[in-house]
Amino acid sequence: MIRTLFVLLFLGFYSASGQQSFVVEHVTVFNGTEILANQFVKVDNGIISEVSSNPLTAQTTIDGTGRFLMPALTNAHVHTWAAPQLQEAAQAGVLNLLDMHGMEPMQETMISLRDTPGNARLYRAGYAATTEGGHGTQYGFPIPTLSKPEDAAQWVADRVAAGVDYIKIIVEPWKATLDKATVAAIIKEAHKADKIAVVHVSRAQDAFDALSSGADGLVHIYNDEPLTAAQLDQLNEDANFFVIPTILTTVLIQPLYYNKTAEETAEIEARLLKEVKRLYDAGIPILAGTDPPNANINIGSDLYKELAFFAKAGLPIEAVLASATSLPADKFSLNNVGYIKEGFKADMLLLDKSPVEGVLNMNSIVKIWKEGVLITQE
Ligand SMILES: [Zn+2]
Repeated sequence: MIRTLFVLLFLGFYSASGQQSFVVEHVTVFNGTEILANQFVKVDNGIISEVSSNPLTAQTTIDGTGRFLMPALTNAHVHTWAAPQLQEAAQAGVLNLLDMHGMEPMQETMISLRDTPGNARLYRAGYAATTEGGHGTQYGFPIPTLSKPEDAAQWVADRVAAGVDYIKIIVEPWKATLDKATVAAIIKEAHKADKIAVVHVSRAQDAFDALSSGADGLVHIYNDEPLTAAQLDQLNEDANFFVIPTILTTVLIQPLYYNKTAEETAEIEARLLKEVKRLYDAGIPILAGTDPPNANINIGSDLYKELAFFAKAGLPIEAVLASATSLPADKFSLNNVGYIKEGFKADMLLLDKSPVEGVLNMNSIVKIWKEGVLITQE
């Protein structure tokens, strides 16, 4: 019995990974930047080998008529602690997770699963930079804190030694927080170590200060007031940055944490979406992240809701889809993902309905491939 099961499991695995070469035919493709009708996408050994409007051949063909093919998703702001989360994300088509503060030793096992078919790949900041008693210290695990610019070099060196992918800094003035000079010193040390530095802020002034000090991105949108026109102009001139607004999180926590009424929450949402559109119009890349498990947000399909917020803000569909595919791949230097183009990993989602007709058609995913291996199917 056990032997039979083993053989069946083995055959199952073999047939899943055995599609060495296949073509998805007659499918509408979002390639990471634009939407193209009636395409043929060929995959060889886990890599996209050709995308063409002319027919391509392979051992296996998959009819994509009436369907939509796009790169698998990245959630650019999550918190992880256990391997089942990687599976939950992958089952929703989210194949890359960017952790923004967690226990470094507990992340090791999850990192080692990056190349396994059924799991999302985890990238991480390790511990976020915060000061003693500051935001980030309240989650029940001990974290190394810092308090002055002179601490920055050692603190960043420790993260680099732990193998982190980027540096995350917390500025949250409702508690003890890092000062501007220390934030600037951490950013400088991160860049010296060839790591990007992203910042948690809640106030526009803190966003302006951190970005003026060279921060590469914000992991939330500030929610007290908009940047002034002069601040935005100056940043656009001097800085090069992206924003992960986490609108879903910021909206959901209003009634949960701040007792806001439905009307007050709707007003905050409208204000945040207006600022997202303003940043987008100013040419600033907008990336999708949802900050699970905050506000009970899941690490999988809730990401579609963030995309729906971006559409509601007025971003064109290409920018909405890029926010969770090509843009996070570019900004966080994820290896060969985020595009349906020749030479990229075949991390692909086949949807029964087009997200162009409604972003929540993301819920109609029928097939998910990770490096050409089918990890879920209808
Ligand atoms: Zn977070």
